[in-house]
Amino acid sequence: MSDDCVFCSIVAGDIPARTVHETDDVLAFLDANPLAAGHTLVIPKAHARHVGDLDSALASDLFDVVAELTPRVQDAVDADAANVGINDGAAAGQEVPHVHVHVIPRFEGDGGAP
Ligand code: 5GP
Ligand code: ZN
Repeated sequence: MSDDCVFCSIVAGDIPARTVHETDDVLAFLDANPLAAGHTLVIPKAHARHVGDLDSALASDLFDVVAELTPRVQDAVDADAANVGINDGAAAGQEVPHVHVHVIPRFEGDGGAP
């Protein structure tokens, strides 16, 4: 837990979020500023800033949830596809310094990658 991390505050229940799925070590919730309907973030509950900071068991658990959830998110909003990705580091667009996987539903003809 990092005291000044918004996603740690969500894990702790101090900031509300719309939970989509939860395991012992992983939490998925709706993005507060979605790029598309159903835009979901999947995070390890333990604070880690970079993908490279995750041990392999946690990285595996995180990706298991992403793999299970992505088709469910697509189905929920009747999407045709999804962008699944991580901004790893500030220069790559990471604004929240807690590893998170974006699952962004995509629709035929919606104009290309975000
Ligand atoms: P990044 O740019 O770090 O890859 O993405 C951070 C994401 O977190 C953004 O899509 C932003 O909308 C989302 N976000 C930031 N603060 C909050 C919050 O307090 N609650 C939720 N649900 N999402 C947030
Ligand atoms: Zn954190």
